[in-house]
Amino acid sequence: MEKQLADLQQAALAAIAESNALSGLQDLKVQYLGKKGALTAFLRGMGGLAPEERPRIGQLVNDVRQVLEQAIAEKEAGLAKQALAHKLASERIDITLPGRKPELGHRHPITLTMDRIKRTFMRMGFEIAEGPEIENDYFNFEVLNLPKDHPARDMQDSFYFSDEFLLRTHTSPVQARMMQSQPPNTPIRMIAPGKVYRRDYDATHSPMFHQVEGLVVDKQISLGDLKGTLEAFLKEIFGSSVRVRLRPSFFPFTEPSAEVDVSCVICGGVGCRVCKQSGWLEILGSGMVHPRVLEMSGYDPELVSGFAFGMGVERIAMLYYGIDDLRLFFENDLRFIRQF
Ligand SMILES: [Zn+2]
Repeated sequence: MEKQLADLQQAALAAIAESNALSGLQDLKVQYLGKKGALTAFLRGMGGLAPEERPRIGQLVNDVRQVLEQAIAEKEAGLAKQALAHKLASERIDITLPGRKPELGHRHPITLTMDRIKRTFMRMGFEIAEGPEIENDYFNFEVLNLPKDHPARDMQDSFYFSDEFLLRTHTSPVQARMMQSQPPNTPIRMIAPGKVYRRDYDATHSPMFHQVEGLVVDKQISLGDLKGTLEAFLKEIFGSSVRVRLRPSFFPFTEPSAEVDVSCVICGGVGCRVCKQSGWLEILGSGMVHPRVLEMSGYDPELVSGFAFGMGVERIAMLYYGIDDLRLFFENDLRFIRQF
């Protein structure tokens, strides 16, 4: 009996020593110490012993149990320590490595140009107004003195959703919305910056582009106010040495109308490829607000007058930065974008 116990203890200790996983150790625990384990079987077998032998063998079985329990506990602790050490080694972080720098973006050249335009007008006391990009026929055309059969509508190939709704072809509707949103003849000094849409696509046209339009209405506003305001604006944008000239033109919503040119910012007015040897660059359209347009939005042309203007933001950005293809603005090529 003692021999059998000694053999069992030896075999168990060897198995525990060899075990190299916590799960295997658990199996050994069940195999030797569990309710149906080897030692329990031993205790059950004691029925066949002489009564005086039982306490001694019982004590021996308990001793073996204690030895095995301790061996398993020690092995368990050892394996847990090993597992932790392995985990620490594999998850080690080298805190001396330099960090990854998050890449910072910056504003797009169109946004930069738009901001400069807005700042300049805000300093002159203009407020900024916005309106919807999906516009109805009434605000986009009719109220600007462009009735349904007006030939000037052909100048603007538009994106229509229906007979009634379209993507706005200019930011002018914002002006009419502004006039109609307040009591008649309230003085106005506003610019309307934003995206507009037309069916064009080449080196100088994109189906989506940006405009800034402006409107001033008050008592006794004259062509001199128009010229002075736009001259101050253009000198702020292109430098104080540029010269400005007004050239008669036609727009249905202004009368008289004028194209505003600046002396070429590339050659200084001598003549080059950009200004087509003329020495002048066409920058914006303008004019005194047509009396019909004032009337249609509830203003009295006998009482107030005003001027309006509109410019393409891409055109100004191209001249300012010396960019020769408008499509570059919208192609998202980082080599281009990073230059600003
Ligand atoms: Zn030039």
